[in-house]
Amino acid sequence: REREAWSTRFEQGRTRDGHRVEVAANLGNTAHAADAVARGAEGVGLLRTEFLFMAHAEAPDLATQIEEYREAVDALDGRPLVARTLDVGGDKPLPYWPVPQEDNPFLGLRGIRLALTQPEVLETQFHALLVAGKGRPLRIMLPMVKDVAEFRAAKAIFDRLLERLPETERATDVQLGVMIEVPSCALLAPSLAREVDFFSIGTNDLTQYTLAIDRGHPELSAQSDGLHPAVLRLIQMTVDAAHAQGKWVGVCGELGSDAQAVPVLVGLGVDELSVSARQVPMVKARLREFDLKEARAQAALALAQATSDDVREALEAR
Ligand code: PEP
Ligand code: MG
Repeated sequence: REREAWSTRFEQGRTRDGHRVEVAANLGNTAHAADAVARGAEGVGLLRTEFLFMAHAEAPDLATQIEEYREAVDALDGRPLVARTLDVGGDKPLPYWPVPQEDNPFLGLRGIRLALTQPEVLETQFHALLVAGKGRPLRIMLPMVKDVAEFRAAKAIFDRLLERLPETERATDVQLGVMIEVPSCALLAPSLAREVDFFSIGTNDLTQYTLAIDRGHPELSAQSDGLHPAVLRLIQMTVDAAHAQGKWVGVCGELGSDAQAVPVLVGLGVDELSVSARQVPMVKARLREFDLKEARAQAALALAQATSDDVREALEAR
């Protein structure tokens, strides 16, 4: 199976009946973009830019960031890059950006909340991505957004920059989206969808915040299953809201490469799956095993269950 998956890795992601689902790669380092392409990734669906900030003793300057992002853009050679702005704080501290001691770091200053306390850092990152993405499809997404106010605050910085930078010096095929990883955003997806260009569902955090289970908890993390019907309902709300506004939706959490979850996510209407580069050939092979009708039936079956164990058992029985 693995050999077959590898031999067809450059085919586009499609279900058996030809329904298109883009299969992209998650990257933690721009140096790995070429490898992702070699494995058949149709783009990068999540570039975790934290690596760049953690590798330096202070926030990397504009030139350093441009050079780093350009490495991924060049390797992708026209395939889309979805870059996530800095997602630190909480459990991922930066030594040069001290955050006061918090009792609940996962509920504290992290992601976009932290970034908005130093807008010039966010602005420099937007700037570097826009310059590095010149002539290429560039998508930028914001982590841990909880409502439209945070999106608007970041978009205001972004729009000012777009006005300031001449079109000849920056990417013009640009989209600004948000990650859906806080339940409030899924619940409010209809209003958010009017303003964003796309959504990418971070099922790791979305599951953590929906089920109130620390995603890294040594004993409980096994119960933190994204195939929980509560999480699936939030995904359904997100996709329906986005599609009603003509926007696309990806999944960039671990659930996207879970063999049982792939048809469910496709049945819910997800347009793109971004998975670790290693998993790209397998996810494409998995897509070819079912058609859209079957995917929709599996999604309906999963949504009708009461627990994640029930979902997995029902899918298995089918
Ligand atoms: C997620 O939360 O699902 C996600 C993709 O982001 P990260 O794992 O980097 O928090
Ligand atoms: Mg996350």
